[in-house]
Amino acid sequence: MKNKPKKSLGQNFLIDKNIISLIVDLGKIDQSDTVLEIGPGTGNLTDAILLRKPKKLIVIEKDENLTISLEKKFKKKITIINDDILKINENKITNEPITIYGNLPYNISSQILAKWIKNNNFNKITKKLILMFQKEVADRIIAETNEKNYGRLSILSYWKMKIKKIVDINPSSFYPSPKVKSTVLYFEPKKNYFKIKNPKNLEHVTRVFFNQKRKMIKKPLKILFKNNNEISKKLGINLNLRPQNLSPMTYFKLCEQYENLLK
Ligand code: SAH
Repeated sequence: MKNKPKKSLGQNFLIDKNIISLIVDLGKIDQSDTVLEIGPGTGNLTDAILLRKPKKLIVIEKDENLTISLEKKFKKKITIINDDILKINENKITNEPITIYGNLPYNISSQILAKWIKNNNFNKITKKLILMFQKEVADRIIAETNEKNYGRLSILSYWKMKIKKIVDINPSSFYPSPKVKSTVLYFEPKKNYFKIKNPKNLEHVTRVFFNQKRKMIKKPLKILFKNNNEISKKLGINLNLRPQNLSPMTYFKLCEQYENLLK
């Protein structure tokens, strides 16, 4: 292979044709769709997306060598942006709601997702997302209250999205094979979601709680609120619970209270 896969960029290319079609089919793309692919790599998924004839296909690839190969391979058929998905202003990609695909680089997959969700225009710019994660990260995204993997990423994801687990994928479907299992998740933006002024506040509130995952929630409540007793009464929170026992809605309401303090 001309371009030796780079571990630092999480390059594990999908080579299983059945999995590739399964992923692409999930998007139900037609000729009115604008599609974005994050990290197209050697273009395996890209090829399959193009077969569905979307109105436009934009890809963002950080690796310069791969970008050059993609330009040679696809010419004018796609729009190639050689940039870092974590640095790009997603509002400037296009004006239309986009269907997003990505077999994500695993070292930054949760960061990519979090950045996308925190964008204030998320619901306007996103039609659906079909993303491949390391299984362990997918498990954290979809975990529900009281479950072992429930945490900050579950709460942030649940805030704006409906999420469906599609399938686990074996390492042998990739070249080079990763050391871990993978999982495909399907996301759609919720039409209505709890109004939070700044998503960073939700991140802050959940960070304070989950920093001490196994302790009772009395302490984080005290750290965040001088009037912690009043707040817990108002929201009907049992102080003997642990962070993993509070529902996403409770965290949204705690965030609301926290934002009221900042006024
Ligand atoms: N979608 C391809 C490749 C997946 S591997 C396939 O399924 O075969 C992950 C890809 O993301 C690699 O091509 C890697 O170079 C790219 N990548 C890594 N970090 C990136 C970043 N910050 N921004 C954009 N692309 C990135």
